Amino acid sequence: MNLTARILTGMVSGLLLGLLIQQIGFTDEDWLGWFFVNGVMDAGGQIFIRSLTLMVVPLVFVSLVCGAASLGNTGSMGRLGGKAMGMYLLTTALAVTIALVVALVVSPGEGGVAAEAATSYEVREAPSFKDTLINIVPTNPIAAMAQGKMLQIILFALLLGVAFSRAGEPGARLYSFFQDVNAVLMKLITMLIQLAPYGVFCLMTELFATVAFAEIYKLIAYFLTVVAALLIHVTVVYPLILTMVARVNVLTFFSKMREPMLVAFSTSSSGATLPVTLRTVEHRIGVSNEVASFAVPLGATINMDGTAIMQGVATVFIAQFYGIDLSVVDYLNVILIATLASVGTAAVPGVGLIMLTMVLGQVGLPVEGIMLIIGVDRLLDMMRTAVNVAGDGMVATTVARTEDKLDMDVFADPDAGRVIEAGTSTT
Ligand code: ASP
Repeated sequence: MNLTARILTGMVSGLLLGLLIQQIGFTDEDWLGWFFVNGVMDAGGQIFIRSLTLMVVPLVFVSLVCGAASLGNTGSMGRLGGKAMGMYLLTTALAVTIALVVALVVSPGEGGVAAEAATSYEVREAPSFKDTLINIVPTNPIAAMAQGKMLQIILFALLLGVAFSRAGEPGARLYSFFQDVNAVLMKLITMLIQLAPYGVFCLMTELFATVAFAEIYKLIAYFLTVVAALLIHVTVVYPLILTMVARVNVLTFFSKMREPMLVAFSTSSSGATLPVTLRTVEHRIGVSNEVASFAVPLGATINMDGTAIMQGVATVFIAQFYGIDLSVVDYLNVILIATLASVGTAAVPGVGLIMLTMVLGQVGLPVEGIMLIIGVDRLLDMMRTAVNVAGDGMVATTVARTEDKLDMDVFADPDAGRVIEAGTSTT
């Protein structure tokens, strides 16, 4: 069985086992609860997520230094960065717009909402533009790495890579050393991803043993509206861009993106999935290291189409629940703020919901509305994270194609970069 099939098997069997355990019932005291669900399964899931997360900082740093070093020679970095940023922001704004339109058509918050809002919830203040800008520049790159501050790491790696390309002999020596480290790190991620089927199994078992289906039934209209908008975005917007701008086969793209999308779905973290996405985009899809090493980490950090979709639908839902009419200007505001909020959303589980307070606050909606939807957010987080990651891959592929940095032979080869057996791959 190939890795994708094994991950899927782990996912489905975890889901079924979790449902069975939920049927049997357990408490925190009995062995099924404390030993199996909260013990073994929880530990297995966390170990898997941590084993991916441990790769993020070294992989992004080394890979991006290499990318910037080879781009530094050609001087095309500015154009490439501009394209990637522009596409990330544009697709996110489009995602919120789709979400708003779908939500306004479906009206999930009108009538028949059984949920109740709690009375208080803390508003999250939007950081100022000035602070955001200042914070991209690290005062101490080692501290930035230790704290996993992705934008600071990206900036430092870019500068260092450019310096490599301009430093003559010493730069060239270091560049070739970094390329070796990069190859070794890629091998390490190929090894660690072997854990995915087991990790995914543990995560699914724990989730479906504990997920509150009653909450979902109460909010079924909201839940399905978010799912519909996510589906429209992935099956209409991405294929259109891939066909018209990137001019590549959409099915091939998605069949190669399956692995990172499944890992994103199971972990609910585009940050933890980043090493898998980077490996897929470079070795399975054929995006050159210069583009992938920059576009993918940047995407994982600032590009959250799925999150923005949830925020758009949630805004309409909460407004309808409280009977508050929003004006066209409000909706335009939502598009702007949700796009910016998704830039500021950390790529870890559940943060999209916290950032929603920012959007609600901006258009004067009661922030307590969050409590209405919190019960179903766990499952929606999984789906939107898969969309976030698909968006990163789509933009990286499109930018690479327009820059003539997509290897079409790799793209067309179904076996390129495929993980074959423990620790080995075709590249
Ligand atoms: N879990 C999402 C991600 O990591 C962020 C969110 O929407 O909460 O991409």
